[in-house]
Amino acid sequence: MANTKQIDFENQPQLFGHPIGLYVLFFTEMWERFSYYGMRALLVLYMTATTAHKNGAGLGWTEKEALALYGWYTMLVYVASIPGGMIADKLIGQKKSVLVGAIILCLGHGVLAIEAVWAFYTGLGLVILGVGLLKPNISTMVGGLYKEGDIRRDKGFSIFYIGINLGSLLATLVVGLVVAAYGWHAGFGLAGIAMVFGLIVYIWGQKYLEGVGDLLIASDDSSDASVLQLFGNLFKSQLQLIVTVVLLSLSAYGWYLLGWGYGLLFVFLSAITGMMMMIYQDLNSRVDKDRFIVLLLSFIMVIIFWGAFEQAGGLMNLYTETKTNRVLFGWEIPTVMFQSLNAGFIILFATGVASIWATRKMNKKEASSIFKMAIGIIIMGLGFVFMVFAAMEFDRDGASSMIWLVLAYLFHTIGELCISPVALSFITKLAPVKYASLMMGVYFAATGLGNKVAGVVGESASDYGEYSIFLGITAFTVIVGIIFIFLLKPLKRLTHGVEEMEK
Ligand code: GLN
Repeated sequence: MANTKQIDFENQPQLFGHPIGLYVLFFTEMWERFSYYGMRALLVLYMTATTAHKNGAGLGWTEKEALALYGWYTMLVYVASIPGGMIADKLIGQKKSVLVGAIILCLGHGVLAIEAVWAFYTGLGLVILGVGLLKPNISTMVGGLYKEGDIRRDKGFSIFYIGINLGSLLATLVVGLVVAAYGWHAGFGLAGIAMVFGLIVYIWGQKYLEGVGDLLIASDDSSDASVLQLFGNLFKSQLQLIVTVVLLSLSAYGWYLLGWGYGLLFVFLSAITGMMMMIYQDLNSRVDKDRFIVLLLSFIMVIIFWGAFEQAGGLMNLYTETKTNRVLFGWEIPTVMFQSLNAGFIILFATGVASIWATRKMNKKEASSIFKMAIGIIIMGLGFVFMVFAAMEFDRDGASSMIWLVLAYLFHTIGELCISPVALSFITKLAPVKYASLMMGVYFAATGLGNKVAGVVGESASDYGEYSIFLGITAFTVIVGIIFIFLLKPLKRLTHGVEEMEK
């Protein structure tokens, strides 16, 4: 059943110093992100629009209802990466998972173009499934293009990351215009068409992806153990039993206190924790076990990073709308346009930031992934200082200048470039091969959790005020970054030189 065709690293066709497969994945992901972000930009607006809306009738929900669904949806989309990764590792490999995911996404966006409530829910469900299958696995495939220790890997991920943001930038610029001219469902339909382009690119590019992302089943491993067996092993050690019981009790408490949605979330987190412990036990060597621990610890930074960063779509977005003077040369810049700043900055600075790190590495200066991620979280945190200034200015003058927002988004973006593509690359270096896709899935689930955290933090601004929230985020993220810098030496030791041997 397993396809054992090996990738021929030496004779891969190259373009601009990278395998051509990178560009196939780049454009597939660009269109996928176009459809994802294009649709996401419409979602809340469509849910809250009433029959009198200029773009046509929406669902007429309250803002609270719409934001609640939005929060759960954006979390689930990434959490679905866990089953998506498992399906790739255990059943069909990454390459086919991406193909199936792309087809499901075409269907999902297509269904959303139909004007009916059933179509709305069905479409969202399909998009969750599709992204879950596509997103983690296409990212793992990027890593699969490079040999172990290939120094180009980090740069490859930075290029891939530009593709992601090119898709998001185009979508936020174009979809709004289409909706204004032809209505909501035309916007959803456009997302569907974009995904069809993505599917075509991917199918066309298969010849450049030979040996990348195929199902691997080594003869000595237990990776064909069923998911049920995986969970059955949970209770083998006392420690696992204790942790599982504690987490399940927390889940019950969360359910009781916060409602069934959070209860289910905690149950899910318990299951993931249990599964991580199971995988740890299943790993054969000390090196694999240590690297696995480093990976899980780095995910803490990931959750905190996205928990702060994702204020962009929520609290900072509302701040832009209600408290910022957006008039430039007599023209009031629409709030949504500020959402394009992040993607625009990524496209401008991605290669620059990657080159700075590459140069440091060549000069034998500190440039390990953990270090980059810690620096990234600090830079992003410092971006919130500008929002603190904005809040102070608002308190004084009744409106704050948009320059604060631009500076904040600039810092957030530079921070993102130090952590996000780096983390993707890091996972492909550190994760045990047979769990590679699953670990990528867990990473995206962590970012999804970060999104949820962002929502909760953002909501609390109505109790504490923006000034305190922005200041609190700055302090917390900078401290977390500094702690990780202090922990750098032991953490690097646990990676067993995975990055020192790169050339
Ligand atoms: N903006 C990036 C993307 O769309 C990161 C998303 C994430 O990691 N949650 O891929």
